Amino acid sequence: MTCDQDSVVEVRAERASKPPALTIRAAAKINLHLGVGRVREDGFHPLDTVYQAIGLHDDLVIAPADTLSVTTIAADHVDAAGVPDGEDNIALRAARLLAAHTGHEPTGRLVVRKDIPVAGGMAGGSADAAAALMAFDRLWDTEIADDDLLRLAAELGSDVPFALIGGTARGRGRGEVVEPVDDAGVWWWVAVPTTEGLSTPAVYRHFDVLHPDAPLEPPNAEPVLAAVATGEPVRLARALHNDLQEPAIDLRPELGTLIERGEAEGALRGLVSGSGPTVVFLCDSREGAVATAAGLRGAGHDVALVAAGPVAGAHVVD
Ligand code: ATP
Repeated sequence: MTCDQDSVVEVRAERASKPPALTIRAAAKINLHLGVGRVREDGFHPLDTVYQAIGLHDDLVIAPADTLSVTTIAADHVDAAGVPDGEDNIALRAARLLAAHTGHEPTGRLVVRKDIPVAGGMAGGSADAAAALMAFDRLWDTEIADDDLLRLAAELGSDVPFALIGGTARGRGRGEVVEPVDDAGVWWWVAVPTTEGLSTPAVYRHFDVLHPDAPLEPPNAEPVLAAVATGEPVRLARALHNDLQEPAIDLRPELGTLIERGEAEGALRGLVSGSGPTVVFLCDSREGAVATAAGLRGAGHDVALVAAGPVAGAHVVD
């Protein structure tokens, strides 16, 4: 094959004058343990939780621009009607916070390719915030220290520090005090989103109504931590725990029926993800997850997504 030397030079010159777009990937989270304590006077619930990042993600593409903007492109199974395209978008809030902290002019064009269900209890907004912090940090070359980035993440939301770290990790406080934990497994999940979201504050309010005398200290994550360290799916299935499952099912009884159905289709255990309404099923293997997802689709749940965990937190993919 021959090659025209002039056109090679032109292409190189164009590349040099226009920095390439950068893609940051951010994973959805599930809570293997979500222990909730009694609401405090400041309105927050003390948590002891174990997060896991799973292979269902949003990709954020960042490019230089004269102004700051965000556009969301949603996968077929995602209803992005509730995602703001203006300043309320948490990705833009992340950009402004980083700009204020570093003194950088807040500019850049962000495209969010959304695969994580919105208002599904899988922290898609938090994933976008973490990825946006990383994206604008790279675009502006801020050289912010990791600890400072984690502090900004916690200001944006309780789940955002975990979205930066990924893997499997314990979260305390409001969930924002995160430490990685030993995880010996490759865990296979089926996630079934529901078209209509369930608001996190509404589920917590219902928890308060159902459990006005909840313990001050949230139920402890030790059983799940011990199970995760063994790598054995049957042990983890027994240990999975979510204090928000009862209020979520009370608000949406069909979630209980869905859990029963997935377990009848072969899953080891079904669990409401975070505050719901997404339900996740732990399976014994990849094959088990594929079979459970097929069974659920056959039962009319058109979207049943197979994903493995743990995966990395927000990271550059090209
Ligand atoms: P969590 O599990 O952390 O409670 P969630 O998965 O239930 O979160 P999200 O998808 O994170 O819910 O979004 C909650 C709300 O945040 C949305 O209904 C939307 O109004 C708002 N929001 C702002 N920015 C975004 C974004 N980039 N992606 C999704 N939602 C956003």
